[in-house]
Amino acid sequence: MGNRRIQILKAQKLLNAALGEPVSQSYVYETAAWGVTKKQHDYFNQVLGYDTTLEPLELLDLCLDIERQLGRVRREPWGPRSMDIDILLYADRVIKTKRLTIPHALLHKRRFVLEPLAEIAGDIVHPILDTSIADLCAAVNGQSSIRKMGFA
Ligand code: ADP
Ligand code: MG
Repeated sequence: MGNRRIQILKAQKLLNAALGEPVSQSYVYETAAWGVTKKQHDYFNQVLGYDTTLEPLELLDLCLDIERQLGRVRREPWGPRSMDIDILLYADRVIKTKRLTIPHALLHKRRFVLEPLAEIAGDIVHPILDTSIADLCAAVNGQSSIRKMGFA
């Protein structure tokens, strides 16, 4: 919700302030909203890579805190949101707790995640599926098209 480009820039700034400059950063991709009933804006999606000493749960708390700072209020699960920051991978760690699942549970099913992730980490191997991100991405390229924007 709101000006999507400005929202993304604000999220980048807040993440970088806490984590340092990203080691990798994909372009922004525009994707039609998925699983929605009402008419809503297409989403902007982007993937950033960071080197961090924060533990996964500390990183999750940071992401949720930044979402709140950007006006996130949780209403219906798939509804419009001002910002959604998810942890896709954390090195080759596998975590399954009540608050946190890593790798992200739907990472391998979503083109709008895999396309930007493959841009910066195509050679990384999914620690559960034992398949590279590039190969996972190739497997979903029949999914609704996404548009690579001219900015990151
Ligand atoms: P979604 O991202 O699926 O649209 P939310 O952003 O509302 O949904 O997240 C709901 C909860 O998902 C978070 O409060 C968090 O505890 C949990 N969660 C589990 N795994 C992850 C992950 N890898 N990244 C971010 N949140 C996660
Ligand atoms: Mg989320």
